[in-house]
Amino acid sequence: MAKIQMKTPLVEMDGDEMTRILWQMIKDKLILPYVDLKTEYYDLGLLNRNETKDQVTIDAANANKKYGVAVKCATITPNKQRMVEYPQLTEMWKSPNGTIRSILDGTVFRTPICIPAIKPVVKNWKEPITIARHAYGDVYKSVDMYTEEPGTCTMTFKGESGEEKTLTVQKVNGPAVWQGAHNKESSIRSFAKACFQYAIDTKQDLWFSTKDTIAKVYDGQFKKVFEEEFEAYKAKFEELGITYFYTLIDDAVARVIRSKGGYIWACKNYDGDVMSDMVSTAFGSLAMMTSVLVSPDGNYEFEAAHGTVTQHYYKHLKGEKTSTNSMATIFAWSGAFKKRGELDELPELVAFGEKLEEACFDTLNAGIMTKDLVGLVEPGFEAKAVNSEEFLDAISERLAAKLA
Ligand code: NAP
Ligand code: MG
Repeated sequence: MAKIQMKTPLVEMDGDEMTRILWQMIKDKLILPYVDLKTEYYDLGLLNRNETKDQVTIDAANANKKYGVAVKCATITPNKQRMVEYPQLTEMWKSPNGTIRSILDGTVFRTPICIPAIKPVVKNWKEPITIARHAYGDVYKSVDMYTEEPGTCTMTFKGESGEEKTLTVQKVNGPAVWQGAHNKESSIRSFAKACFQYAIDTKQDLWFSTKDTIAKVYDGQFKKVFEEEFEAYKAKFEELGITYFYTLIDDAVARVIRSKGGYIWACKNYDGDVMSDMVSTAFGSLAMMTSVLVSPDGNYEFEAAHGTVTQHYYKHLKGEKTSTNSMATIFAWSGAFKKRGELDELPELVAFGEKLEEACFDTLNAGIMTKDLVGLVEPGFEAKAVNSEEFLDAISERLAAKLA
C-alpha cells in the first residue's frame, strides 16, 4: 500500500521519560508504516532544553505559529528535586507548556476520551465535556499581604498619562489579609476568540460562566468581552446550529451535573483549574484526557493532559514491563493529523486520524487495556491488562486491518 503523503510538516515536539518511550513506539508501530511522515522536529527533552538554554522551546513555539499544527509529548518541568536528579542542569527551566502558551497566546481545551465500558461517575453524562480554562491572570498573577494593625487599604492605578484612580478596599480594625488581582483585556479577548473558534471547529455549544453579580466590573468585563467577540462568530454559530450561553458559575455547576454533556465549558483561570480536575476525575482517568492549545489566530498544539509518568519510566529503565496507557498521546497525533489534513485539504490524512482513533476504541472495546483502566470498567465487562507494548500491538493489528 502506498503511504499517505503530507503537504505541510507537523511541528513535532519530543519530550521526556515514559512518554518519550511511548512517542517512539507510537511512531514506529502506528504511524510510519502508513504515513510518509513530514515533521519539523524539536527535541524538548529536558537535557536538550538545558543544552540550548531553552531556545528550543521558543523555536518550537514559533514553528507552531508558522505551520499552524503541532503535536507535543509530555515534558518535565524541573523543580528542586529534578535539579538534584539532573546535576547538569544550569537553570531551573520554566514549564515548556507555559512558554508555548504565552507565545501562542492560547487557551487549553481538555476533553476526556470516553468508552462504553467505563461510565462516568455522573450517570447522565453521555458525551464528553470539554473544559476551556483561561490561562492568564486573576489569582495566579496576584499579590497578597497580611497586615496586623487597624487601618485602611486602598488600591491605586497610576496611568502613564499621569492620571490616577484610587479605591478604598476596606477599613479594618484588626489583622487582615489582602489580595490584588488583575487581568488584561487583550488576554480576555484572545480567550473568547479561541473559545468561539474551537466551538465552531468541534461543532459544540459553548457555555461560559463567571460571577458577574458579585464582581460587577471584573467579571462583568469578561462577560462583556465575550458578548462583543461573539458578534463576529454569530452567523457561523447559527449556520452550524450551535449556541453560545452565558450563566453564573454556580448555576453552571448545577446545570453541568444535570446535563448529558457534549459541550464546551469556558472557565476563568481558577474556576477552570478546579472544575477541570472535577470533570476529568468524574470521567475516569487522567490517562484518557486529551488537551489542545488553540491560539486566537487559529494555531493548534495537540498533547496528552498527563505528565511524563515518571514511576513507569524508572521501572522501564530497570528492564521491567510497564502498563502505561498511550491513548491520550495517540489521540494527540490523531488530532494533529485530522487538523493538518483539514487545513491542507488532504481527506486521506483526516481519514487516517479517524481510523487510528477507531482502532484504539476497537482495542479497548475488545477488553484489551492497560492496568489503569482495568480497575475502572463496569462489572460484567471482561478486561485484560496488557503491557505498554502489547497494547500498541493490539491497536496496530486493528489499524492494519482497517487500512488494508
Ligand atoms: P503524571 O506523569 O501524569 O503521572 C501521575 C500518575 O498518574 C502516574 O504515576 C500514574 O499512576 C498515573 N498516570 C498518568 N498518566 C498515565 C498513563 N498514561 N498511563 C498510566 N498511568 C498514568 O504526573 P506527575 O507524576 O505529577 O508528573 C511527572 C512529570 O511530568 C513531572 O516532571 C511534571 O513536570 C511533568 N508533567 C508534564 C506535563 C506536560 O508536559 N503536559 C503535565 C503534567 C506533568 P501510577 O504510578 O499509580 O500508575
Ligand atoms: Mg490544578
